[in-house]
Amino acid sequence: MRKIGSVDNCQKCGAEYVVKTGSQKFCPECSLSDTARRASKKYYDSTHPLPSQRECAFCGTIFTPKDHRNTLCSDGCRSARKALQQRQHVAANADAIRERKRRWRLDRISEKDDPP
Ligand SMILES: [Zn+2]
Ligand SMILES: [Zn+2]
Repeated sequence: MRKIGSVDNCQKCGAEYVVKTGSQKFCPECSLSDTARRASKKYYDSTHPLPSQRECAFCGTIFTPKDHRNTLCSDGCRSARKALQQRQHVAANADAIRERKRRWRLDRISEKDDPP
């Protein structure tokens, strides 16, 4: 049994620390960072309360989100938005490809104009 005030090794970093409670496993620094992490999560949750209702980012239906990242009302909207994003991605790339071809043509033209 460990005594309060005895010295033990931190189970996380191995540093020696003075035991303050019977259940203490970490040095003050490691237990502090755990507490800080928990506190920041708590702080985030308290400053960003999960709304009971949210508008679907895709179809606009009001739904109840399960967590902060839950912005779409259904699996149908999730796959539909994914498909849309893929189409948009292809469309954006098509523009880039067209632009590249256009520049390539312009380069060829200016090459011809240049004296050899
Ligand atoms: Zn530690
Ligand atoms: Zn939806």
